[in-house]
Parts: sequence; structure tokens; C-alpha cells
Amino acid sequence: MGLLSLGTPLCWASAREHNLLVRNNGIRLLLTAYVQSHTRANDVFLWGDEVEYMLVKVDSAAHSAKLLIDQDHILTELDGALECAAGGVLYHPEYGRFMLEATPAAPYNGTVLSDYNTVEPNMLCRREIAREHLPKDIVPLTLTAFPRMGLGEFTSPAAEANGAASQSLFLPDEIINRHVRFPTLTANIRRRRGEKVAINLPIWKDTHTTMEDETIPRRQLFLHDAEAFDGAAKPGHVYMDLMGFGMGLSCLQVTYQLRDINEARYVYDLMANYTTVFLALSAAAPVFKGYLVDQDVRWNVISGAVDDRTPYERGVAPLPGNGEFGGLDVEAGSEPVTKDGTPVRRVPKSRYDSVLVYLGSEGFKPEYNDVGAPVDEGILKTLLGTMDEQLATHFAHLFIRDPLVLFSERVSSEPELGNDHFENIQLTNWQTLRFKPPAPFKPGQTEVDPTSPGWRVEFRSMDIQITDFENAAYLVVVALLARALAKYRPNLYVPLSLVDENLKRAHRVDAATKGRFHWREETGLDVASFKGYGLEWWSGDSGEDHDLANGVARPAEEDSHAELSADEIINGLARTVGVVQLVTKFVALEFGRSGTELVGEYLRLVSARARGTVATNAHYMRQFVTTNQGYHQDSKVLDAVNYEWCVHVEELTQAGRSGAHLQ
Ligand code: ADP
Ligand code: MG
Ligand code: MG
Ligand code: MG
Repeated sequence: MGLLSLGTPLCWASAREHNLLVRNNGIRLLLTAYVQSHTRANDVFLWGDEVEYMLVKVDSAAHSAKLLIDQDHILTELDGALECAAGGVLYHPEYGRFMLEATPAAPYNGTVLSDYNTVEPNMLCRREIAREHLPKDIVPLTLTAFPRMGLGEFTSPAAEANGAASQSLFLPDEIINRHVRFPTLTANIRRRRGEKVAINLPIWKDTHTTMEDETIPRRQLFLHDAEAFDGAAKPGHVYMDLMGFGMGLSCLQVTYQLRDINEARYVYDLMANYTTVFLALSAAAPVFKGYLVDQDVRWNVISGAVDDRTPYERGVAPLPGNGEFGGLDVEAGSEPVTKDGTPVRRVPKSRYDSVLVYLGSEGFKPEYNDVGAPVDEGILKTLLGTMDEQLATHFAHLFIRDPLVLFSERVSSEPELGNDHFENIQLTNWQTLRFKPPAPFKPGQTEVDPTSPGWRVEFRSMDIQITDFENAAYLVVVALLARALAKYRPNLYVPLSLVDENLKRAHRVDAATKGRFHWREETGLDVASFKGYGLEWWSGDSGEDHDLANGVARPAEEDSHAELSADEIINGLARTVGVVQLVTKFVALEFGRSGTELVGEYLRLVSARARGTVATNAHYMRQFVTTNQGYHQDSKVLDAVNYEWCVHVEELTQAGRSGAHLQ
């Protein structure tokens, strides 16, 4: 809850006066931390996950399911670490008043096998404790997107979409967390951008689909109300106009601590491409605002939902009546600059997007950073005095962003403000990966405290899964993959422009089975040394069921890449060591066979999703909707179907690994 300080939040026009102060102070804090901790070494692989829940009120008499927005007080009751049979749990507030985030109370130790077996029981505890504090008809569900969010009466109690913070045509202010930070963030994104955000998802076409978002009201309440009809809403698309459409989604994140800064940089770079494949494998969001859409995941929704870039920065014409510089106080002149002297530039991506800069590690070449990440030149220069070019470029890119929420009480650079100004920018850059440096020393501290968090990488791309079994599976596999990569050190670099293309492809319907991903061919791994470490290892068979064992390795040229399916990337191919082999060999040598049954189950699930023998949540849901009696082949998800889906998800949650969607 680091950033949830109490105080008076500044609206955009006042906050922007302090942009330079926050950025410069943030960079000073970063440099302090870097100098103090860049030689920090031998940290243990600790790791922890974050699971986000939606509180859903299921009313069987009315045959309806709604998002609950009046029980957020349970967060006060759930404050602090709570004991449970499988280690403690911690609850955190989230953007939505109907949301709850939970993590383990303390990170897991990734060098201890039993900790991998604790993840799922710990998650079960999190749900149980939450349920104990909620009325009987309320269920905490891990839905990536609530199917009818933004449509009609979708909250309990009912609330109208007429709030000043949101100004949304669809979402009431009452869905936003009561802490002032959240409505301020919402409004400041709009004020900086100079328009409401606009998210357009292609409608999935069925026999009777009109290919028109019929839910957009004509209204004259707020300044930006006409935007939908002035070009913000695209034909053939579902239109959404608020931060809440993105930050009101749930996702699955995992943070791990690497041995030192170098290992963290290496794993970060390698994971960049894996975030795309794991997004496809975790796909769980085919319905938004009551429509089946022609994609399977949440990522571009949340990316668009917090996109505070002005039309000029995006390189597009403003909507009628809006200025190209949005809420920036731009000085007239040939080169646009803001009053504090900051140049205004084109910015290719939202604050919530894929990574734009590799941090640079073994095997890295500067040409892999080919997506033209804009940087703050002044900050780059400052950082280059202390850091190498790649790391400096990473942070000089993150720090092109303006702070979005600032509390008037915290506008100084006094040391008692701790790491606030660094985190202000760092934590509002929501990329597929986050590189988390250690915090600066506390007052009086003179050397590294090995019990404080070290150099960490957060893997942030995945949609959340219905059951704790699935969530545990993805998390454990990604954590073990990080360890395996750090141990076997393949070269998986491809140019970041190809990673971007992969992220786009990961959005497509059934990308898990139909998609192809740009993948490096020559990884430097000795394929033969992974022989025998396919899924067969887990059942103790010596039988070889896998291409890898029998295939003939074809020498690939340095830097060449092929387009592989998720199946090939996960399960391996003649010339490619898959995630299955990396993880299996790692587990075999690190832990041996005894006690690894659960890890084997997790790996099998991920493997089956890639192979297509178990459908993704998104595929299953699309099928559930389109075969439902209440569905009329018009791509619309009506209230009754929304209800039946929520009831079904609750059944699947209870069924765990024996749920119908996993058979
Ligand atoms: P954020 O929302 O900023 O990503 P959270 O505190 O919600 O951060 O979650 C971070 C996760 O990182 C939690 O699961 C936590 O247990 C885990 N974690 C905490 N300390 C460490 C550490 N030293 N190394 C790795 N993971 C850690
Ligand atoms: Mg969190
Ligand atoms: Mg969260
Ligand atoms: Mg996180």
C-alpha cells in the first residue's frame, strides 16, 4: 500500500507544475539506490504472486450477477498479515471498489521445493478468509473481466454513470476505490490527455450480429460526452471510455528476486518474449461490455484505459474541439516544449504496454532495441555518469512520463518522503515486465540489509485463471522457468519489434493454439543435454514421447528467428528446448523426483494448453456463451447469460482441478 498515503491530491493543472521536481528527485533516489545496491550479491530466489478477485453478488431469485461496490470495508477488517494453514496472507486494495488483491504474507523461497507446493493451498486460504468476511451470496471470483461491466445496472447497489471523476458514459464513479488517489488518477489521465481515453475492441461476428456498439448513449452532461460520436468510437467495435475498464480487470502477476543485478537484467530480457506466449496461454477475456469480441485477452484494454498521451504524442489528430497538446502547458514555438522546458515528443506507446528497452545482458546487441524508445535526454545524461547505457536508457525512458497523482503534502524533496518520487513514476509505468530495484537505504543505514528486497523482476502479462489450481500452475511454471533460465543461460534475444508483434498476436482468438510467435532459433543450448526431460520424466517413464529426443537438430544461423507455435515454445521442438524441458531438467537436478508431483501437474496443464488438449479459459467461455440457450447469435451477452457464467465460474472454482473446463 506504499502509495496510498493520506493527503490532498493535486488536480492535473497544479500537479504538472511539479513534474520536473518529481522526475529529478525520483532519479536522485534511483541513483542513490543504485550506488548503494549495485554490488549487492547472492540473494536468494524469493518470489511471490498477486491474485486479483472480483466480488460478485449472485442473486439466484433475480437470475442476475452484479459487481459488489458496498463491501469494500472488508479491506479494513482484512488489514495486516493474516494467519492461515498454508502460511499467511495479505490483502491489498485495488482500483475497483469491487476488487480485492491478495498475496502471500511473505514471499516464497524458490530454493525450497515445499514452497512451490504451498502456493495453491495459500490461495485457497485467501479465498476462504475473504468469504468468511463477506455475506453468503457474495463470491470472490477470479474473472479477468466481468462480462457486463459498463452495461446497464451491473453493480450492487445500483449506481448511475454520471460521476465527475470518470465522466464515463458507462461506468459510475462508485466503482472506483474510495481512496482519493484513484479518482484523482482517473481524472488526471483525462486532463493530461485532453480527451477521454478510448478503447475500441473489434466485435466478434456471429450470424445475427449488427457489428455496431448499440450501448453508447447520447448525453450532454460533461464536456467530453460527444467524443464517442466525433470519432472516438470506431464502427464495428465495442467502445469503452474510462480507466476503470482496464484497471477494473484482474490479472495474475509474479515477482521474483534474482541473485544480483546482472542475473535480474538477464532474466528480465529473456522473459520479454515469454510474456507474450504466456499471455496467449492464459487468455481468459473474450467478452467486454456485454459483447463477444474478436480477441481473447485483456492486455490492450488496460493499455488503452490508462493511455494519458496527448494526440500530439500519439501522432494523431485531436477530436473536434480538442487541442493536440491536451493538458500540457505548451509554450508557443517551432519545437513544442512545456513551460518547464521539457520537450514534447512523439511517444509510441501507452504507459501500460510491452517493454521498450532491453536492459542488456549476455548475448545482447544494441540493434535488438529497435522500437525507438523515446528518452529524457537530460536524465539519460545524468544516469550515464553512474550506469551503463542500457540500464540508463531503460530508466530515462520510464522517466519521460509525468507523475499522475501528487499529494500537496509531498511536493518537497525532503528525505522523509522516502522513495515516493521514484515510485511515483516507476509504478505508473505498467509494462509487461517491471524491473524492481532495491529501495534506497533507510536513514542511518550504512550497508545492504540482506533481508530487504533485492533486485527483482515482475512478470505482469497474464490474464487471471478461474481456479487456484490454474493460477498456481502458471505462477509456479513461470517462477521455475526464471530459475532454469538463470541456470542454463540460453540466448533468446530477438529484436523488440518482433516481441511487439508477438504481443499483438497473443491477443487473437485462440492464439494459444493457432498463433505463431517470433522466436530465436540459435539459443546456444545443447539440445541433446535436455533429452529425457520431457513430460515423460514426471511419470518416471523412460519412454520418449517427444520430438526433441528424436529430432535432428538443424544448425541455425546466428540471430535467425522462426515463427513457432506456443506448442513448440512450451513443449519443445527438434531444435528448440521448450519450457517443459528447461523446467523439467532444472527440477530433476535441483530437487529430484520426490515431492515434485504437484509441480508436474502444473507443468502438464501449461503443456496441455499449448498443445490444445485443454482449452484456454477464453475458448471455454466463448463456447459457454455461444451454446447457451439465452444467446441469440448476435454477439451479445445478456444478463441471464452473464449470471449463468458467474454461477458456473463459482462451480468451477469449487471443483478446482476437476473442473469441467480442464477435462
Ligand atoms: P506490486 O503490486 O507493486 O507488484 P505487491 O506487494 O502487491 O507489489 O506484490 C509483490 C509480490 O512480491 C508479493 O507476492 C510479495 O510476496 C513478493 N515479494 C515480496 N518481497 C519479495 C522479494 N524480496 N523477492 C521477491 N518477491 C517478493
Ligand atoms: Mg500488488
Ligand atoms: Mg494489482
Ligand atoms: Mg504487481
